[in-house]
Amino acid sequence: MYAIDHAATALLVKKKFPASPMFPLLVSVQLVELFWVLFNYTGLEYFSVANGRLHLDFLPWSHSICSALVLAALSYIILYRSYKKHDIALAFAIGVLSHVAIDLVFHEHDIRLTPFTEKPAWGLGIIDHPLLDFTVELLYGICCWWYFKGSKKLLITIVIFNVLDLPIMLASGDSLNPIDRHHYLLPSFILFQILVTWYFIWQFSAAAHVHQHRKHPPK
Ligand SMILES: [Zn+2]
Repeated sequence: MYAIDHAATALLVKKKFPASPMFPLLVSVQLVELFWVLFNYTGLEYFSVANGRLHLDFLPWSHSICSALVLAALSYIILYRSYKKHDIALAFAIGVLSHVAIDLVFHEHDIRLTPFTEKPAWGLGIIDHPLLDFTVELLYGICCWWYFKGSKKLLITIVIFNVLDLPIMLASGDSLNPIDRHHYLLPSFILFQILVTWYFIWQFSAAAHVHQHRKHPPK
């Protein structure tokens, strides 16, 4: 799943755990992806371009069932010990788990059980069908906005970023040569998307929150 809709997932978690601050939730839903970026820079994980399509060949250190569970558990323990707030620690851990849970639906069969075992590996493979991918991701993003009861600006942000992802989803053949030749390009682009979508979702979800408070001041 693309950065905007992972970020939109933070809206679901925020609605369920209103006491959790929004920015850490945005970090939680992308923590796995930040590790993917780091591991691709360092060569621990890698992707390839084959038959004119991008494949995320090897990513079990950031994206496996076990690593997600370990990262979520560690996040919970560290946050609980630091802040003594079960709700906030749990919300963050759920955010971390959400990333791999959602990627299981979109990825090819590249999400392994552990970093040490090649099989089993899962992924429904929606990514291989760009128009279906676009439709499902856009609807998912809108559902997150609707559940959160976000502002119009937040909805526009979600729709625009999803539309901007469409050419990337459709990218194939020679257009993928640059990321094949320069392996730092894709992780840098993903990192850029993470940062930009964090900023906009953070800004516009906060605006909605303040607005709601003005309308119904807390008693
Ligand atoms: Zn991912």
